[in-house]
This record gives sequence, C-alpha cells and structure tokens, in this order.
Amino acid sequence: MLKVRDLKIYYKTPAGYVKAVDNVSFEVKEGEVFGIAGESGCGKSTLVHSLILKKPPMVHMGGEAIFKGKDLMKLSNEEFRKIRYEEISIIPQYSMNALNPTKKIKDIVWDLAKEHGYTERKEIEEKLKERLEMVKLSEKVADMYPIELSGGMRQRATMVVSTLLNPDLLIADEVTSALDVTTQRVVLELLHYFKENNIIKSLIFVTHDLALLDKIADRIMIMYAGKVVEIGKTEQIVKNPQHPYTKMLLGSLPKLGIHYKQQRLRGIPGYPISLLTPPEGCRFYTRCPYVMDICPKKEPSLIEIENGHYVACHLHGGA
Ligand code: SF4
Repeated sequence: MLKVRDLKIYYKTPAGYVKAVDNVSFEVKEGEVFGIAGESGCGKSTLVHSLILKKPPMVHMGGEAIFKGKDLMKLSNEEFRKIRYEEISIIPQYSMNALNPTKKIKDIVWDLAKEHGYTERKEIEEKLKERLEMVKLSEKVADMYPIELSGGMRQRATMVVSTLLNPDLLIADEVTSALDVTTQRVVLELLHYFKENNIIKSLIFVTHDLALLDKIADRIMIMYAGKVVEIGKTEQIVKNPQHPYTKMLLGSLPKLGIHYKQQRLRGIPGYPISLLTPPEGCRFYTRCPYVMDICPKKEPSLIEIENGHYVACHLHGGA
C-alpha cells in the first residue's frame, strides 16, 4: 500500500538544515498495523506528517513515498486535498484540540464531505449518526460544539471525523500519549474495530510506547535520531531485539508485577546528537555501550538478520 524509499525530510532553520528524517525506507502492507517507535525527537512524527502535509520549515530533500501508485512527495496541494480523508488520513498528536471550536460536529463533517464532492447532506448526517453510535457516542453529539465535549468524547469525535470517508491508510500519531490507561484502551479497541470492519485497511501507529505496539502492531520500525535502526515483526522486535537502542528502549519499560525495589527502571543515559550536524557514522554512538572504532566514522546499513528482521548496527556487520 505504501512504499517509502530513501526519504529525507529536513527543517530549514537559520543555523542550517535539521536532518529530522534522513534516508528512511519502509513499506506498509495492505491490512497491516505498522508501528513506529522511538523517543521524542527521533523523527517519527515528522515522517508521518510529511506523508500528509508538508508545511515550511519542513522541506522534502529527496526520496519518495509511493502510495497506491502515486508519489506523495510530488502531489500538488490540490491533488493532496482530494486524497486526504478519502485515501489517507491522520489522527494528529493533539487530536483533542484538532476540531474547529466554532463549528458543530455535524458542520465540521459536512464541510469535509462537500470538499470531497458529496452533495447529499442527509446521507452524510446518517453516516455520522451511525459512526457516533459505533464509537459509543450519543447522536446528540452531532449537534454539539467540540468545547461542549469531555476530553475522551472529543478524542472519539476526532476519530470519527478522520475516518468518516473510509481512508485506506490511517495514521495515528501519539494518539494515546495524553490519555489515562482506560481511555487508551478504548482508543486502541476503536482502531482495531475500524480495521476489522473495513473502515480502514491499514494503520500506521506512532508512539514512544513499545508496550502499546506489542498489543496492536503486526510489524514495528524503531527510529533513532532520524534513522531507522531496526524493523521486524512485532515478536522479533519485542522478544529478540538486536539493536542496542531497541534493547535499551525495551529495558526502560516497567514490567508487570515487578516492584521498584526488585528492579529499578533503567533509563537510556546521555542525550541524542544534534541533527544539525550529525556524525557520519552511527547516530547512537555517543550513548551505545558497545561502541567500536568504526561506529562514529561509518554509517551501518540496514541488513536482514533473519526473515523480515532488519538491523542497522556494526555488531551485525552492517558496514
Ligand atoms: Fe552501537 Fe556501533 Fe551498533 Fe551504533 S553501530 S549501535 S555505536 S555498536
């Protein structure tokens, strides 16, 4: 469904280009839940937003993103407007504030449908009613302003708006990070429901929380400082991580049933490198406990170490 090759998305700043996404390649298959994980600033949100809308200072510096035969990097704003919501859609990171506060939910939805050539308001209102019921919201919500809804209700209303036109690919960008555990679960169940009921075909789920991806993703891509460091099936990444960063990321998660006195949480020491002037070699070398002479000098390439499991690290011969 989506093939991204050597994608480079930089931010233009007075100090130079910030290399937020640098030569990133991956694919998302039809019917798949593809997870993207990494700490804040690793480029995961920049990557998915560049697939939807490139706004300055974000600049496309190279590479392609082929979605259903079209290169998303080459579409004009007008062409993009046509496919957005209908073929590819996003639930943004701060989705609770994403809805226009001056319009009722039904008017937000109607504006969106009109833009996509719908002419029968009644048909759209019926669809909205059906979808609100699906996410367990009263049909009265259609007549309400976003400000009148609680945080959890607004989150579900945003999900309805983002998926109303049944996009083939839905991107969920950190949609659970500001939510309590119960609401997180509701959101995950809804995303699963959308997929099971063919409202969406594929899902890209972006998070810093690997434990969440373990529950919902078919495959996971780990990013660090604008680069892909590991990709594999969820089980391969969670049970058999091979990149030192992935291992440390997993090691920093709390384990169920283990008390703090028995096992302290381990953070990842050090700080990510500056993306204005990244090293030529591995971008993790300043924090890696296994660093070797070659690491700062030569970038490790992504190599397949087992079926469908790729790692970029000199420990695996990626020179
Ligand atoms: Fe560590 Fe070197 Fe592997 Fe980078 S390439 S993760 S510095 S061992």
